[in-house]
Amino acid sequence: MFSSVLIANRGEIAVRVMKTAKRLGLRTIAVYSEADAGAMHVRMADEAYPIGPAAARESYLVIEKIIAVAKQAGAEAIHPGYGFLSERAEFAEACAEAGIVFVGPPASAIRAMGLKDGAKALMQKAGVPVVPGYHGANQDPKFLKEKAYEVGYPVLIKAVAGGGGKGMKRVDKAMDFDEALASAQREAQGAFGDPRVLIEKYVLSPRHIEIQVFGDTQGNVVHLFERDCSLQRRHQKVIEEAPAPGMPAAMREAMGRAAVEAAKAVGYVGAGTVEFIADGSNGLDPTKFWFMEMNTRLQVEHPVTEAITGQDLVEWQLRVAAGEPLPLMQDSLAIHGHAVEARLYAEDPEKGFLPSTGTLHALEFGSAEGVRIDTGVEEGAEVSPYYDPMIAKVIAHGATRDEALDRLGQALAGTVVAGPRTNVTFLKALTEAEGFRAGDFDTGFIDRNVEALGAVPQPMDAKAAAVGGLAILQRQMQRLWRNPSHTDGLSPWSIMSADGFALSESRPAQRIDMVIDGERVPGLVQFVEGLPVVEVDGERVSILRQWRGYTGYLETFVHDNDPRHYPPDVKIVSVPGRVFVIRNGRQTEVRAFDPLDVDLDHLDGGGSVKAPMHGKVVQVFVEAGQQVAKGDRVAVIEAMKMEHTLLAPSDGVVTSVSVTAGEQVAEGAPVAAIEAAQDKAA
Ligand code: ADP
Ligand code: ADP
Ligand code: MG
Repeated sequence: MFSSVLIANRGEIAVRVMKTAKRLGLRTIAVYSEADAGAMHVRMADEAYPIGPAAARESYLVIEKIIAVAKQAGAEAIHPGYGFLSERAEFAEACAEAGIVFVGPPASAIRAMGLKDGAKALMQKAGVPVVPGYHGANQDPKFLKEKAYEVGYPVLIKAVAGGGGKGMKRVDKAMDFDEALASAQREAQGAFGDPRVLIEKYVLSPRHIEIQVFGDTQGNVVHLFERDCSLQRRHQKVIEEAPAPGMPAAMREAMGRAAVEAAKAVGYVGAGTVEFIADGSNGLDPTKFWFMEMNTRLQVEHPVTEAITGQDLVEWQLRVAAGEPLPLMQDSLAIHGHAVEARLYAEDPEKGFLPSTGTLHALEFGSAEGVRIDTGVEEGAEVSPYYDPMIAKVIAHGATRDEALDRLGQALAGTVVAGPRTNVTFLKALTEAEGFRAGDFDTGFIDRNVEALGAVPQPMDAKAAAVGGLAILQRQMQRLWRNPSHTDGLSPWSIMSADGFALSESRPAQRIDMVIDGERVPGLVQFVEGLPVVEVDGERVSILRQWRGYTGYLETFVHDNDPRHYPPDVKIVSVPGRVFVIRNGRQTEVRAFDPLDVDLDHLDGGGSVKAPMHGKVVQVFVEAGQQVAKGDRVAVIEAMKMEHTLLAPSDGVVTSVSVTAGEQVAEGAPVAAIEAAQDKAA
């Protein structure tokens, strides 16, 4: 075994790889971009080196920089993690040229499997069943459309160089083909620098089942069973599990054999995953699965395989890279219990799963038996717009599927995140969803159940809003208590002005305006026995009085964040300017309304279309003076390598357009203004 390893990655996977490397006694070397200088993976490493600006293509994706650091630090090996350079054959070659061990397959295997078209052709030759479709070289749109017709709708357009569900479009009818093709090509060009696509038959009732394979330099190849990753959104995995529910033994056999054959066909060494799509319309059937692609790296969801096999796949990777044989052969591998993984993302399910960036003002994970958390961030860290907004992976293992899901649900229920929005309540709902629980699901499950899963706009949580208003008042009262003469720092709410907390019951309830999740909302405050009671939408919340023995009641202004004084299901995280109230896993952001605060200009909501996130304008569909209907496309913004279409919020006329295609926009930047039809009438 070598004695040092450089991890050419960031976030949770860099941390996860380092854990094993450290346990094996290796010296760990981290690299980091400017955005990651204070990141967990940097602090955890024995040594860390800067490699440039935040943008990955100027840091984590620059082969020469990483090789230079590896040489400088004397790294004997490089582990690429997943994403970034992990599937770049040139990187594996550059390592070899520099005399450094690449912890991954030979460059030739990466290349053979790198493009989906070539991989499919190769697998077809090796006798592995592949999804029917067109994966040839002709990229003429007319020709591709003809092929789609021949294959038969629905079809799936896929980026040949694709990954992470990007550059993939399902098309149900010929009429929609041209536009879907153009969008897929743009996404593919943007994300992979390669616009080429292939056309596949869209398998109905699809189940995504993949096989973990492992090869060594002696020519042994084994599989470590399957993972079911059918719970997806936009072709991206949300929850993964092992083994696959309802998997017949004969099918596990057949898939395992096909996967091992696929690996052998390309001289595979190290960890890899062969992904199949299975027709689940009549239960799983050993004759109904087809090769989709091979991921020539460690997979995000590898921990569920680790849980059911009791093996450390990163240790296997390092040993195999060092030339050792596989730690276990096929006969010694067995499945123990069931494991489930949920990907906790900084995104807002109530707003179409838009990525949500910013400081993690609070980050706590719930605990339960058999639960493992893989993360690369902690409280105070930043979810930046530069990288994948995954906060953590929550993995639960149990004797049965139900037990694993219960434990996952328990861990999610206890998870608190303040700042960015997250999908935690959505994940929790998934662990309880009837069809999923029953093992009766396919890749369309989430889309069919978005509403039941709570992934639609939800009404304001009035109780949480009232608690937040109260917390802000308390803060102001504390300030005044400490320094009664100091009133200039008080809010424009001004209820605390001059006579401050001497306000008495005789005084009627006063209106206070708050900003709840960006919306202006009126509330009421009244003082009862000198303590404020806040009411929002009929929900009343007050400060508790504490009994202090013989001195009687003490009216204490409790410290911010002191949970003892709030209902137990509520958690308050107070930061300058706002308060986050987390109730039942859902976050409500509360601010005092300040008419002078220019930052609040997005409150006009109504007719203006703003960039929901940092990104690049790809296309603008409207111009000033144009008539639009509610739901019409206004522009397409590309962020996190995905395209997001902005729609007109109402019927009306476009009064101005503030962006042009190609332009970079900041979150909240105006894109277009639309004068709503009603506005005009009024
Ligand atoms: P997994 O099956 O391991 O979840 P994904 O396809 O979801 O694989 O990709 C894992 C991670 O790697 C994601 O963060 C994804 O964005 C990234 N990724 C996958 N393929 C590529 C690629 N070709 N180029 C850049 N990033 C990629
Ligand atoms: P990526 O490289 O982005 O992971 P994949 O080819 O692995 O691309 O496909 C991603 C997901 O898209 C799959 O997990 C599956 O849910 C869906 N998918 C892919 N091919 C098909 C198909 N032919 N029919 C139905 N669904 C498919
Ligand atoms: Mg895939």
